Parts: sequence; C-alpha cells; structure tokens
Amino acid sequence: MSAFHVDLDAFAANIAVVRATVAPAELMLVVKDDAYGHGLAPIVRRAWAEGVRWYGAFDVSTGSAVRHTLGSAARIFVWMAASAVDVQQAVTDALDIGVGDAALLDDVARAAEAAGATARVHLKIDTGLHRNGVRPEEWPAVVAHAAELHTAGRIDVVGVWSHIAEASDADDDAARAVFDEAVDIAQRGGLNPTVRHLAASAAAFARAEFRYDLVRVGAFCYGIRSAGGVHERDLGLTPVARLEASVTAVEDDAARVDVGRLDGLPSSLGGLIDVATPAGARRVREITVEAIVDAWPEAAPGDTVTIFGAADTGALSATDIAERIDTIGEEIVLRVSPLIPRTYRGMTDGAAPVAGS
Ligand SMILES: *Cc1c(COP(=O)(O)O)cnc(C)c1O
Repeated sequence: MSAFHVDLDAFAANIAVVRATVAPAELMLVVKDDAYGHGLAPIVRRAWAEGVRWYGAFDVSTGSAVRHTLGSAARIFVWMAASAVDVQQAVTDALDIGVGDAALLDDVARAAEAAGATARVHLKIDTGLHRNGVRPEEWPAVVAHAAELHTAGRIDVVGVWSHIAEASDADDDAARAVFDEAVDIAQRGGLNPTVRHLAASAAAFARAEFRYDLVRVGAFCYGIRSAGGVHERDLGLTPVARLEASVTAVEDDAARVDVGRLDGLPSSLGGLIDVATPAGARRVREITVEAIVDAWPEAAPGDTVTIFGAADTGALSATDIAERIDTIGEEIVLRVSPLIPRTYRGMTDGAAPVAGS
C-alpha cells in the first residue's frame, strides 16, 4: 500500500531554522495548495503550536479554512480575491487582503462598509513580474485613493508587498528598487505600512536586504529546496514528506511497486531515478500504472520502498527527482494523488486555540 507520510516534527525543525535565519523579520507560512500537498489543518495547527502567527493562504477559501482552524488571533493573508463574494468572505473572516488594482480597493471598501468593519489591506506594487499589482505609473494615484478610504475608516492599509522572480540577483535588485520607491511614496502619501514583504524562500535565505518586516515562505518550511539551488542539508532543512510504496510482486529481476503515473509519479522518470529499498538504492526502470524497480536478492511482496523523503531514508528528495526532468520539487510533491492516504507524525491536538493565546 502506498502512503504519504508527513513528519510534523521535521516541519517544526524547519520552521525554527527559517525563523532563526530571517529574524528579526517575521515568518509568514505559505499554505497554498493544501499546504503544498501536506494537508492544511495538521500543518497550520502544528505551525501555530510552534508560534507562527502569520499565514499566507493565496485564495479566500483557504484563508477562511485557516481562520476556522486557528481562531481569531491568527493573521491570514490572501492575495487572490477574485469576486465580490470572495471579498465579502475575506472581510467577514477578518483576512488581510492583498490588493493589486484600484477597482478591487473599492470592492474591499464597500464590503467593509456593508459589514461595519475595517478591512486590513496590503497594497501590491508590480515590481516587474506583471502577475498583477499596481503599475508604478499608477501607484501614486492608487496610494492617494487608498489614503482617502483609510481616513474614512473603511480600510486600514497595513502593508505594502510584491513578489519577485528569484531567478537573477540583478532582476531582483531592480525589483527591490521599485519596491522601496513604492513604500516611500506610500509613506509620503500619508499611509503607514508597517508590514513590508517582498521575499519568498530563496531570497529570504540568501539575501538579508529582501527580508523587510515579513517573509512569505512556503517551500523551505516543507523542506523543499529550490531546483538548481543549495542542498537541503546545507540549508539545514529536512524534507517533511515521504512517499512510500509496497512491493506487490517480484518477477525474476524486477519488483513491482504499487505507485505509478496514475498516482502522480511522472512516467518520464523511468530510468532516471533510484528508490530506497531494504537493500539500498535500486533503479526505477519504468513507470506505468506501477513502478518497475530493479529487484534485490531478498525482495518480497510487502517490502516497502521509499520514492522520496528525508536523507536518512536513503531516498532522493523531491527536488532531486524534479531536477532529473527539469521541474521543481513542489511539482513532484503536489502531483501525488490525494487518494494516497496521508499519515502524520507529531500531530498536535485538534483543539482550536483560545483567541489571543
Ligand atoms: C507561493 C508564494 C510564496 C512562497 O514561495 P516559496 O518559494 O514556496 O517560499 C510567496 N509569495 C507568493 C506571492 C507566492 O505565491
């Protein structure tokens, strides 16, 4: 039987490394895509127990799920409010809303008025990625409008943020200059954005000047290093997820293993990776509906092999595997079918925390 094991103790250790690295900036744990496939509720409960207070949820329904799980004291940032219904929900659930265009600003203000609330807003400047965000030439006008809504009490502009490619230092530096200018214009326009955030995993680790007040880190907290980047071991991080599968049959020199392309293992990995078996590393010959692996002398049905996991399993990491087919570790982990059961080590109890605790 194949299984996806999540080691929450390793996750907690990664969080400690990330926080120590980025301090005094604070960690926002990014939990989009069901916490990078690790399971949202167990991940945010453990992070909360470790003292993480900021969560980056991407979409509103994920943000609301985090609110429901963690209670009122968590700060939850969403940056994909796609409809008026989304915006209303975000305001109702007291989510921090990333706003990258002027029209959305008015939607947020209207929703806040209707709810008798003040919405917390983080204005997004487009620093070059063109993934949404206010263009620099429009920024002064949007800041002025935000300042009006702020004065009227409908919104509270708590943050300025952007996202960078983390592909070249020169491009990131250019983005940072645009960001600094935008923060400056916001301050001169009467706003007081105390939460400035720009970096994700890679820049947060490599470049102190990108950390500002908060860093939005997903991958590294799950122990997923950047493809082509520094090794997990050298970052002090441990892969949190481990994918295991069972031998179902042994024929001559091949062991059949019950995980395959229908479970999300790219068939293009055939011939390119080894898995960890009870007798050490063995090559995966082919991936069909199952994986066909070079057998070992005592191989027998019921034996467990590890497809990816922490170094102490003897297996490759998700990013090691990803690099063989020019993709990223997140994709290898996220493709694993949700039908494969998740099991957890180090689960904290399910009780919602008391507000303010
Ligand atoms: C996914 C995402 C992050 C986290 O990136 P990692 O490389 O996983 O740390 C940060 N910010 C935004 C806007 C994202 O979409």
